[in-house]
Amino acid sequence: MPEPAPFKVIIIGSGLAGALLANGLLNNHVNFSIYERDSEDSNREGYQIRLGDSAMTGFKACLADENLQNIIQKFGQTASSEGAAPCLYSTKLQSILDLTSLPTYSKSFAINRVVCRNLLLEPVKSTGKIQYEKAFSSFEILRDPSGENDKVKCFFTDGTSDECDLLIGADGSGSRVNKALGFGNIVNIDSHWSFLSKGKLPLERLKGLPPQAEKGPILIFSKGISFFYALYKPTKRDQSQGANNGSDYDEDAASFYWGLNIPKALSTEYQNYKDIPDRLKFCLDMTKDWAPEFKTLLTTGQDDEDSSGIYVTALRASTKPAGNWRSHVREAVLPEKAHPRVWLIGDAIHAMQPNRGMGGNQAMHDCAEILPYLLELNDTALSGTSPTTQQISAACDKYEAAMIERAFNWVSKSGGVSMPNLDFDGILGMSLSFASKLCVPLISAFLRLPFMQSSEKQESDWSNPASSSRQPE
Ligand SMILES: Cc1cc2nc3c(=O)[nH]c(=O)nc-3n(C[C@H](O)[C@H](O)[C@H](O)COP(=O)(O)OP(=O)(O)OC[C@H]3O[C@@H](n4cnc5c(N)ncnc54)[C@H](O)[C@@H]3O)c2cc1C
Repeated sequence: MPEPAPFKVIIIGSGLAGALLANGLLNNHVNFSIYERDSEDSNREGYQIRLGDSAMTGFKACLADENLQNIIQKFGQTASSEGAAPCLYSTKLQSILDLTSLPTYSKSFAINRVVCRNLLLEPVKSTGKIQYEKAFSSFEILRDPSGENDKVKCFFTDGTSDECDLLIGADGSGSRVNKALGFGNIVNIDSHWSFLSKGKLPLERLKGLPPQAEKGPILIFSKGISFFYALYKPTKRDQSQGANNGSDYDEDAASFYWGLNIPKALSTEYQNYKDIPDRLKFCLDMTKDWAPEFKTLLTTGQDDEDSSGIYVTALRASTKPAGNWRSHVREAVLPEKAHPRVWLIGDAIHAMQPNRGMGGNQAMHDCAEILPYLLELNDTALSGTSPTTQQISAACDKYEAAMIERAFNWVSKSGGVSMPNLDFDGILGMSLSFASKLCVPLISAFLRLPFMQSSEKQESDWSNPASSSRQPE
């Protein structure tokens, strides 16, 4: 019988962060198991996400070259080299500010979240290290008399359990690991309902959409309502595909998605979104004074046979923890509280509003930062002594100090724990539109001068620059 590996990690959640970190551990021969609540074929949350330098940092740290290339091949096309950052419009679909024109936007690429997650999971699945339909419920610290070699025992809702040296909560913004740890910094934003929809994008459908949709993502802020519409058009793998109808993208994999955040206070009829009998009608009613093109955007695809309809998702964000939050939460009688053998990554610690498109990016950046510590602890174990709780605690402190400063900066830039209450239909929109026409070209020209290029931009190393767009810094 082979000796059991001395250091074992359990990851809870196989979303973007959990799946990426699993690759990092796999490629470095660290013993781990990953548990996912949903079923293997779950395609929930198949919206488009934009990934930039932070995600690339995570990919490079954790993925084998071949897997990285597989992901890059799925990056969406854009109309031009800079055409897929959002453009801010009024509800009359008049352009207010094209965010691509701001030189402070760094490169980013579009990909469907489910496509990305599935590609990340491919290598992990083939090792049998992932178990689906295993929902984490709680954990217990198995104390070692010396206090230095504690173990973490995880319990699942089906009554089973597993043990490890280090537990990593990557279970998203509804994180149970976060709660079991006694942290509780995730906040429900319950001032708004967030409606989301997605669907297929064959060429015929694309032709029927307003031209603004093809130009790049559409962003609206009006009277507390915000709306986001984006297309995902992946490059064709096989150039003969779709040649007959003239499409230049992979129609089978292409999709659209939109999100509409509506303040609950605007609804006089319903207290709870579950009471809304017809979500499409509700969304159309709320936007009835907007340009007629919005009706097309909202209704397109809703009658598809396999349409998943309009779903309502919980909006969550998080509050920034103090650097020494663990010492505040720790309780002598409850060793589970803030135990240093339980770490958090991604939305499970820094949930943020999606408007800046940074939640996934930061989640993947976490993987790059956490991996070296895990490898160091694994090396200690391989040299013959299990890493002590003190060593694990010191590594955790270093990981958290850097992660908290980086990621919570984006939580704050994304609006913190309250929804932005902007209205670009009025004077704000007019002023911004005027200022952008006058100032942005001048600022852009100035910032594009060679001596103004930031080192971060020069360091960007994306293999497919032709389909890049820009993302806010
Ligand atoms: C509409 C929208 C648009 C977005 N656009 C962007 C974008 O453009 N760019 C960007 O960077 N980010 C974007 N985001 C944010 C991004 O999707 C998230 O930040 C990212 O998915 C977080 O990754 P994660 O791995 O931490 O969590 P998730 O991806 O949410 O994964 C968590 C996983 O844990 C599993 N899980 C949950 N509970 C349990 C349990 N008890 N036991 C076991 N498993 C469990 C879940 O099933 C899930 O698979 C967007 C979000 C939304 C809603």
